[in-house]
Amino acid sequence: MIDLIIIGAGPAGISASLYVKRSNYNVLVLYNGESSLEKAEKIDNYYGFENGISGSDLYNTGIKQAENIGVKVKKEEVLHIEQSSNGFEVTTTENKYESKALIIATGNKKIRPNIKGIQEFEGKGVSYCAICDGFFYRNKNVVVIGNGKFAINEANILKKIAQNVTILTNGLQVTENNNFNTNTNKIKEIKGGLRVQEIVFEDNSTLEVDGVFVALGEAGGADFAKKIGVLTNNDSIVVDDKMKTNVKGLFACGNANGGLLQVSKAVYEGAVAALSAINYLKGEIK
Ligand SMILES: Cc1cc2nc3c(=O)[nH]c(=O)nc-3n(C[C@H](O)[C@H](O)[C@H](O)COP(=O)(O)OP(=O)(O)OC[C@H]3O[C@@H](n4cnc5c(N)ncnc54)[C@H](O)[C@@H]3O)c2cc1C
Repeated sequence: MIDLIIIGAGPAGISASLYVKRSNYNVLVLYNGESSLEKAEKIDNYYGFENGISGSDLYNTGIKQAENIGVKVKKEEVLHIEQSSNGFEVTTTENKYESKALIIATGNKKIRPNIKGIQEFEGKGVSYCAICDGFFYRNKNVVVIGNGKFAINEANILKKIAQNVTILTNGLQVTENNNFNTNTNKIKEIKGGLRVQEIVFEDNSTLEVDGVFVALGEAGGADFAKKIGVLTNNDSIVVDDKMKTNVKGLFACGNANGGLLQVSKAVYEGAVAALSAINYLKGEIK
């Protein structure tokens, strides 16, 4: 049993880990994929670097700083979180972990593919969360758009509910072997009336569907959060000023919460989330 798991090793997650480790709790940071920081060629507006610093240098230095004080940082993609009797169970590509408290610091990267009709049908057959919306597709035909582990995870959830589950890679290479019907054609359009009815591919072939689940890249902060009933608003996690979510023992910080998408705010919120998590672990807040 780990005291605290932090998902995300960007400025928010690493900042949180420093405070928690220095309070003598055991903390595990899990990360995978890119931080939005790595896409920043140069950060000129963050305190302390007279000539600025490249986003990727800042990201990697942050991880090393945490490791240097004894924080365990593991590169494992988180696929799924759930509440357990003692706190939270976190499933990654390699392991399952249990922790008393959890901080989501995954940034905010819901990937909406550039497909005609996708935005129009969000909430009308297009979903980003199998656990949240799968129930509505009992015995129906659904597709999952994606090509990696996250997509397979969502497809596995849906296969227990829907009649047919097909994976559409939208022209991307399959990165995971799976037993699902898989179509690699590029998608031209999602069509329907009041709700989604069919997918039209670039080669003009069509597929009749009732539901489309988007699961590109890896699961983002809001994806995890929704699965366990955390309130979200436009794909940002809703927190109070102590970075507490509506779920006991679960905190969120940085871009995952929306607002000002800057390093300084991520670092600040990481610190606040850590102090709240420490108080929670001490039993001082519920
Ligand atoms: C092009 C560009 C330029 C920018 N320029 C500036 C600038 O000049 N100044 C500034 O202040 N800010 C800038 N930013 C914004 C800044 O990068 C972000 O505000 C900051 O990185 C947010 O920190 P974060 O820790 O919340 O999220 P991120 O830095 O995005 O970190 C998210 C972490 O979560 C991990 N993660 C995500 N999903 C999973 C999963 N499923 N399993 C495991 N781990 C996961 C990622 O691997 C990563 O470690 C820029 C951003 C971009 C894209």
